[in-house]
Amino acid sequence: MSPLAVLGIVAASTAALALAVVLVRFNRKRLCVARCAATLTPEQLERIYSLVEQTGTTAANGYVLARTNKATTETRCLVPIPKELPQFPWAGRVVEATVSNTVELQFVEATAFEPSLLGHVYRPVQVPRHATKSSTKERNTFSPERYVADSAALSVALSTVCPKYPTELLSYLLCVGRESFEFEPIDQARIGTSPAWVQDPEHQICDECQKRMHLVLQLPGTLISRKAFHRGTFYLFGCVTHPDRTKTLGQFT
Ligand SMILES: [Zn+2]
Repeated sequence: MSPLAVLGIVAASTAALALAVVLVRFNRKRLCVARCAATLTPEQLERIYSLVEQTGTTAANGYVLARTNKATTETRCLVPIPKELPQFPWAGRVVEATVSNTVELQFVEATAFEPSLLGHVYRPVQVPRHATKSSTKERNTFSPERYVADSAALSVALSTVCPKYPTELLSYLLCVGRESFEFEPIDQARIGTSPAWVQDPEHQICDECQKRMHLVLQLPGTLISRKAFHRGTFYLFGCVTHPDRTKTLGQFT
């Protein structure tokens, strides 16, 4: 074997070893964050989520679904839209996600007090909203890093439970579509606000008035199906003027 070939093999195995080390560290961190999350009491979760909501400075226009450690016997995937959401014609109604050959998100007549998806209960957390400096416009903030930077009390509440990875813990709690501590908007379940697109934006138009539709609900496929559709994120759009006009759309990685 030539010295060059030997060098090549050494370099390749060093790279493989480095990658293995990175993977082991990543998994250890992931497990640590998930374990911390599992120990959170309802009171601790409530405190964390209300502190997140308090970082907003103007009225919220939507929610993200956050983890709880509560299970449910509800077998249907039901998401009630909070009644308090202003200027949202679907407030108080319930969306059901059904999975067959396709995924359908539609309004149903059902009683549901909290979002229930595949046996897990979620807590809608208001997305903090701020006025922007440059104009009269307002903007939603989805980033857990920003929440922690904005609130010392939140930082303390998280560090008490997970001293090593407080911000990652918050990411894990607010990105419910994947068992990861990395913040990924397409892994968020959202009510209102704006969609996080997996691919290029596909804004939907109302068939009746030709106006752009609003996001009603975004759900990662992992939350509604045990096997299929795990590479998808699904969106329900509706027209504010014609609330019964809705469209379901899916995008895939
Ligand atoms: Zn319309």
